[in-house]
Amino acid sequence: MSTKTKSKEAAAKAALEFSNGWEYAPAPESTDHARIEPRYQHFINGVFVKPSSGKYFATISPSTEKVLSEVALGDEKDVDAAVKAARNAYEKVWKKMPGSERGKYLYRIARIIQERARELAVIESMDGGKPIRESRDVDVPLAAAHFFYYAGWADKLEYAFPNRTVSPVGVAAQIIPWNFPLLMAAWKIAPALACGNTVVLKPAETTPLTALKLAEIIRDAGLPPGVVNIVTGDGKAGAALVNHPGVDKIAFTGSTEVGKIIQRAVAGTGKKVTLELGGKAANIIFEDAAIDQAVEGIINGIFFNQGHVCCAGSRLFVQEGVAASVIRKLKDRMETLIVGDPLDKNTDIGAINSKEQLMKINEYLKIGVDEGATIHQPSCSIPAKGFFCRPTIFLEASQSHRIVQEEIFGPVLAVQTFRTVEEVIEKANNTPYGLSAGVWTDKGSKIFNLTSKMRAGVVWANTFNKFDPTSPFGGYKESGFGREGGLHGLLPYVNLK
Ligand code: NAP
Ligand code: MG
Repeated sequence: MSTKTKSKEAAAKAALEFSNGWEYAPAPESTDHARIEPRYQHFINGVFVKPSSGKYFATISPSTEKVLSEVALGDEKDVDAAVKAARNAYEKVWKKMPGSERGKYLYRIARIIQERARELAVIESMDGGKPIRESRDVDVPLAAAHFFYYAGWADKLEYAFPNRTVSPVGVAAQIIPWNFPLLMAAWKIAPALACGNTVVLKPAETTPLTALKLAEIIRDAGLPPGVVNIVTGDGKAGAALVNHPGVDKIAFTGSTEVGKIIQRAVAGTGKKVTLELGGKAANIIFEDAAIDQAVEGIINGIFFNQGHVCCAGSRLFVQEGVAASVIRKLKDRMETLIVGDPLDKNTDIGAINSKEQLMKINEYLKIGVDEGATIHQPSCSIPAKGFFCRPTIFLEASQSHRIVQEEIFGPVLAVQTFRTVEEVIEKANNTPYGLSAGVWTDKGSKIFNLTSKMRAGVVWANTFNKFDPTSPFGGYKESGFGREGGLHGLLPYVNLK
């Protein structure tokens, strides 16, 4: 080896060591402009009202474990008041209002979300633990985009369903999880209102704050009282809402377990239901893929939002010929990930949403090791306080492992290899879920072949975790039924004749 080559190699090694040891200075987003009240009430009939029980529960920041606010604990009486307000607003105002007028309210809500985007993003990251980069660049802009998109449909429903008579369904009960609190509220409220329905929304127990901020926005937008009602609380409030006889339609996003309870509860009642449930997406890398981009796609697919994503790419399938290089690059890239303060703009992986969720993820890390898969985590430090988890991959995972079959809902990836297209399709479809999948290849024909055979609601090609209000989203099998987003997202909220 010439001296020149040797010195080049030494320089490259030094550069790598330097970059690995690189520490970014903290860049925390300021919280001065985020107004969080010490106590929040339910939002019923256009005003904030105390819970009938007089009880409140604390919502904490999962990154500091500090209490952010106290929130009303909803019970059957509160749910009943909210459903009655929604029924009254439906009959007297909202269903009679021309679509063009309804649309104006939705546009107004969208614009106020944009105006208050910074505050909403900061509160989302404080209450839920997700990195500010994501709440700022994904959650909040997409929430506004959903209101803008469905505002456009409000006066065009006869074009959405040509030659049909379109009418609203009535009062919609909407129950959402903690992983995209504001965005899920927007996904549910915007199409419901566009079609002329009124709403009672129940946010998740651990992340109620941005829904309550949305209540303020809805009030400021001058929406008629009772058109949107928000009742906070735990699963009991959710169950009371599902079982209320005054509800015409239930839209639920959450676990498959609760989804099944809801389906049993509404059997024979005539209530319309859509369920968006869990997932265990396959991310498939072929030998002819652009490998560096695919590695970024794997990182984005599973570590985005701490893996708290129903469509997370939690099963990786790599074709044998590139497996060694993909895994090496993946490990290198994982070394550069920053785990920590969700409010820091450098953070890639924020806090796990709750202590319970962290315990569940840690249990799966143990299960994976016990099952015989090889665990790999980067050497990054994690904060001493708060709920944090290092990004994790399991190598030599196999189809029968629980870490391959069950939804972990954390930054944990199970890696397998494959040889042929047929083999990977069979393996990828071999799961009770069917929400999403990803495929990385240079060949369009392979993409079409695969997408037509995958039992998944969304299949991304050479990208992952991309969302758009114009595109429908939803699952097969135990991932639920019904679609949200796009023209399809109007269907659950209309009766057609
Ligand atoms: P979860 O426990 O099912 O909770 C979802 C919502 O339902 C929460 O508001 C919850 O209230 C409420 N709830 C609990 N028990 C209920 C009952 N018996 N009746 C009615 N409502 C009830 O789910 P999670 O743990 O919050 O969220 C994680 C799950 O959601 C994952 O499985 C994930 O895959 C799924 N998810 C799916 C999608 C999708 O679009 N397909 C999107 C996001 C998340 P509490 O918060 O008070 O428990
Ligand atoms: Mg919280």
